[in-house]
Amino acid sequence: LAYMSIPLDNDLIVAMATPPGQGGIGVIRLSGGDAFAVARNICGEALAPREARFVRFREAETKEVIDEGLALAFVGPASFTGEDVVELHCHGSPVVLQRLLDEVCSLGARLARPGEFSERAFLNGKMDLAQAEAVADLIASTSVSAARAAVRSLQGEFSRVIHDTAERLAQLRVFVEACIDFPDEDVDFIQAGEIKQKVSALRDDLAGLRESSQQGRLLNEGLAVALIGAPNAGKSSLLNALSGEDAAIVTDIPGTTRDLLKVDLVMGGVPLRLVDTAGLRDSEDAVEKLGVARAREQARSADLVLVVKDASEIVGEEVAANLDDLLREIETLPGQVILVINKQDLLQERPTIGLIDFPVCWVSALEGTGLVELRDQVLASAGARPAEAQFTARARHVTSMDQALGCLDIALSNLAKAQPTELVAEELWSAHNALGEIVGTVTPDDLLGRIFSEFCIGK
Ligand code: GDP
Repeated sequence: LAYMSIPLDNDLIVAMATPPGQGGIGVIRLSGGDAFAVARNICGEALAPREARFVRFREAETKEVIDEGLALAFVGPASFTGEDVVELHCHGSPVVLQRLLDEVCSLGARLARPGEFSERAFLNGKMDLAQAEAVADLIASTSVSAARAAVRSLQGEFSRVIHDTAERLAQLRVFVEACIDFPDEDVDFIQAGEIKQKVSALRDDLAGLRESSQQGRLLNEGLAVALIGAPNAGKSSLLNALSGEDAAIVTDIPGTTRDLLKVDLVMGGVPLRLVDTAGLRDSEDAVEKLGVARAREQARSADLVLVVKDASEIVGEEVAANLDDLLREIETLPGQVILVINKQDLLQERPTIGLIDFPVCWVSALEGTGLVELRDQVLASAGARPAEAQFTARARHVTSMDQALGCLDIALSNLAKAQPTELVAEELWSAHNALGEIVGTVTPDDLLGRIFSEFCIGK
């Protein structure tokens, strides 16, 4: 598979490479076009490739010194983007950085779009799509394990296994196509058996890869967890207890959490976005009504829902029936739900709660009991085993693998039903394309735009 030919802009782009705000140094990066000529104009001298030069940065017209610092030139294709690249390292002053940026733009550069440097690196073949995504994932990583996994993806470990699998698929396709082109009645049966065995082995390996990619995705993108329940059940208190901060307002007036409150935390190495929602109850208050609607929406889109109940309000077997109604209302499957019975400190003994087909955790947000078990249950329900993540991956990678797996399954069932080999070949072709989308050897038009627009500016 070859990279799709995409027309390349090589116009000069520029962006701040360091984050906004004051700092020891600030870096401006230029790529493409006549980057070297522009740099020469600003630095007052030609830059030698890969040599740090101490220079004065001047306004081109007035020659006024804006700042002094280091200038570095990389001659394409031996650069991050594959184009001519210049880095100007000045003092980390937002004013100085802005002046330099304006100066570079007045000399013909334009401001880079988010992710445009990485996009060019991809289009110039400096890295594949999964690696370019790993750059963004490394920058956004929130734990040591996520950063480690992102570096491995960045260095191409993830891409390598995808390429290897795609290569096996390619060989299989050649074999299958050959069987179509040179049919021979006598060996037909033997060939079908051999194809079946190869497709089946590939399918199993891909399923294993999908599992570890799913772990990589969890490590990378984290889990959205929604807390829902009646007002005063202790949702805000639980959120605070889990996050160890007083992030949510806790009061004993029902209905105080009107809006959504989000807290990002890392649980057992997995990033988690906890969303405390407005209490679920029918309210006359307009603002609260809006909050309740949003809570339902949040619960529907979450990976996991923690249904919080006040232990002192539990009346026997009623809970089970009420929960069924609730799940229907928020359109959530039992596999995504944990029942959290809070305020267990108020009880002498636990009441029976009837038959519930999802996990139940007894906690006290106030006294901090049961929280370790709740954490374990959250990770278990999400199927998170962060130790098994060898590299970071994204939801779109897992989706592509699911597509490829689906095609291989159809191919296998076609083989089992002794369908024409052409149908099998068709499925293998689709599976091959799905894998190609992961590393970018096959890219639907809008995919690149979607991926790179999520990057930060200057990356
Ligand atoms: P929310 O409306 O569901 O967010 O509930 P809050 O977190 O605001 O808590 C409502 C009230 O219950 C507050 O007065 C809390 O102090 C109290 N509360 C929360 N968790 C516990 C708990 O585990 N034990 C006891 N005894 N009280 C709690």
